[in-house]
Amino acid sequence: MNAVESTVRYVLLGTAACFVLGLHLMNSPRSARRGNALSAAAMAVAVAATAVLLLDRGSVNGTAWLVLVLGGAFGSGCGLYAARSVEMTAMPQLVSLFNAVGGGAAVLITVQDLLGTDHPAGLGARVTLPGALDVVIGTVTFSGSLIAAGKLQGTVPGRPIVFPGARAAAVLLPVGFLAGSVWLVLTPDQTAPPLVLLGLALVFGAALVLPIGGADMPVVISLLNAFTGTAVAMAGFVLGEPALIVAGALVGASGSILTKLMADAMNRSIAAIMVGGFGTGDGGPAAVGAGGPAAPVRPVSADDVAIQLAYARKVIVVPGYGLAAARAQHELGDLVQLLEEHGVEVSYAVHPVAGRMPGHMNVLLAEADVPYPQLRDMDEANSEFPQADVALVVGANDVTNPAARRPGNPVSGMPILDVDRARSVVVIKRSMGHGYAGIDNELYTDPRTGMFFADARAGLAELRSAVRAFVG
Ligand code: NDP
Repeated sequence: MNAVESTVRYVLLGTAACFVLGLHLMNSPRSARRGNALSAAAMAVAVAATAVLLLDRGSVNGTAWLVLVLGGAFGSGCGLYAARSVEMTAMPQLVSLFNAVGGGAAVLITVQDLLGTDHPAGLGARVTLPGALDVVIGTVTFSGSLIAAGKLQGTVPGRPIVFPGARAAAVLLPVGFLAGSVWLVLTPDQTAPPLVLLGLALVFGAALVLPIGGADMPVVISLLNAFTGTAVAMAGFVLGEPALIVAGALVGASGSILTKLMADAMNRSIAAIMVGGFGTGDGGPAAVGAGGPAAPVRPVSADDVAIQLAYARKVIVVPGYGLAAARAQHELGDLVQLLEEHGVEVSYAVHPVAGRMPGHMNVLLAEADVPYPQLRDMDEANSEFPQADVALVVGANDVTNPAARRPGNPVSGMPILDVDRARSVVVIKRSMGHGYAGIDNELYTDPRTGMFFADARAGLAELRSAVRAFVG
C-alpha cells in the first residue's frame, strides 16, 4: 500500500466515523439538520477520496472516467432536482425510489464483479457468499421498492393484490435462493448462477410487496430501506471496501431499528410480515356502529370552534396527513401562537405513523418552528388527553380511530391517540372521507366531537381570524 492509498484509507475511516456521528445527531430534531449535513459532506469526501485512489492506481481509462463523471453528474442532478421539487406528501414515494436505486446499484456492482474476468486467483466463498446475498437482497429491494413507490403514487392499485400461488411462491422462491447461492459458491466461474438469482429475486420482490395494502405500508418502506443498506454492505464485502461496508451497515441497522419501532407502532409483528402476512391486516370492512345506520355527525363553524378554543385551558393538537396535504403547518403554528398569547396551554400529539412516512409530522412541525418541548409522543399524549379541554384534530383520521381497540377491522390493534378521552374534540377535514386505511372513523359520530368541514389551510386561517376577533 503506497502513501496515497494509506492516506485515502484513513480519510475513508474518518468519513465512516462522520456517518456514525451524523446518525447520532439525527436522534433529536434539534440537531438533525447538522447530522444530515455532516453525513452528506462525509459522503462527498468519500466519493472524492475514491476518485483520488482510482487516479493514483491509473486503473481507469479515459472513456471510463467520462462515464463516471457524467454518471455522477446525472445522478446528483436527478437527486437534487427530485429532493427539491418533491411535495412533502410525495416524500414516501421518493424514499421508495431512492431505496430501489440504492439496491439496484449495489446489485449491478456485484454482478459486474462476479461476471468480470479479472480474478487471477478465482473467486472464493469470501466473495461469492456476500455476492449471492447482495444479488438477492438488492434485487428484492429494487423490484419491491418500485412496486411500493407505484402503490404510493397510485400508478399501482393500493389495495392488497393477492394472486393464486402467492403462498407457494413465498416458500419456493427462498428455496430457490438457497439453491442458487450454493450453486454460485460451488461454481463461481459460471455466468448463470448470479443471473438466475437475479431473476428469482426480481419476482420475489414484486410478489412480496403486491399483497401489501393499507396500514402496513410504512413498515414495508422501512424494511426495504434496511434491505438497501444490507445490500450495499454486502457489495462492500465483495469489493473489499470498508467505507461501503460501514455506510451500508449503518443504513441496514438504523432501518431495522426503525422497522421494529414502526411495526410496534402499528401492532404488526415483523416475523408475520416476513412470512407473508403483508398488508392484509385482519381483513374485512370496518364495522362501524355495530352494523347499524350511520350515526349523525355534529358540524361546527369557525366561530363555534374559536369560542371553545379561547375558553380552553389546555388544548392538544393532533396533526395528520391532511395537514401535510394542505401544507397548513404555518397556519397551524400561527393559530397556536395566538392561543398561547391568550394564555391557553397547547401541545402537539404526534403519532409515530401520522402522515405518510416515519417522522412526517415532526418534519412539518419543525418547518413551522414549533418548539420541540411542545411535541408529545403517543404515550405522553395519551396520559394528557383526559385533562385536555379540546383535542384539535387537523387532517388526522386513522391514528385517532377508536375502532382500532376492537378486533375485526383493518386498523385493529394499531395503537392510537386517545383523542376521544379529551373533554371535547374538534376535527378539521374536508368531508367524511376515509383515511389511508379506507374505513369510517367512529370518533366523528361521538357526541362530544364537532366536525369543522374545511380544507386544513383555509380552515385554520379562518379559525385564527375568528379567535382573534373573539379575544380582541
Ligand atoms: P389518514 O390518511 O388516516 O387521514 C388523513 C385525512 O386527512 C383524510 O381522512 C382526509 O379527509 C384528510 N385530508 C386530506 N386532505 C386534506 C386537506 N387538504 N385538508 C384537510 N383534511 C384533509 O391520516 P393519518 O395521519 O391519521 O394516518 C396515517 C395513515 O397513513 C395510517 O393509516 C398509516 O398507517 C398510514 N401510513 C403512514 C405512513 C407513515 O410512516 N407515517 C406511511 C404510509 C401509510 P378528507 O378527504 O375528508 O379531507
